[in-house]
Amino acid sequence: MIEKQPLGLAEELDALANAPATHRGPQCSVGAFLEAADQDVAASLRAALDTDRVTAKAIADTLSRYGDPVTAYTVARHRRRGQSNGCRCER
Ligand SMILES: [Zn+2]
Repeated sequence: MIEKQPLGLAEELDALANAPATHRGPQCSVGAFLEAADQDVAASLRAALDTDRVTAKAIADTLSRYGDPVTAYTVARHRRRGQSNGCRCER
């Protein structure tokens, strides 16, 4: 019995696992904003991000008024950072 397997799948998965640290970045725009912001602004933003009753849209709209446009989707994704469906910012 010979099971058919797609050729090269194992190799491709190995390549993903062994890829250099590029999978850590790049940061999403929320992460970039946090890094560029003053410390007190960053702290306030982190607090808002950690507060569930603050919607991603409210945060996105507020950030967008002060800088580059940020979408609610990006904010929600940043809240899930580190998860498979989140952004690649560091937790
Ligand atoms: Zn992020």
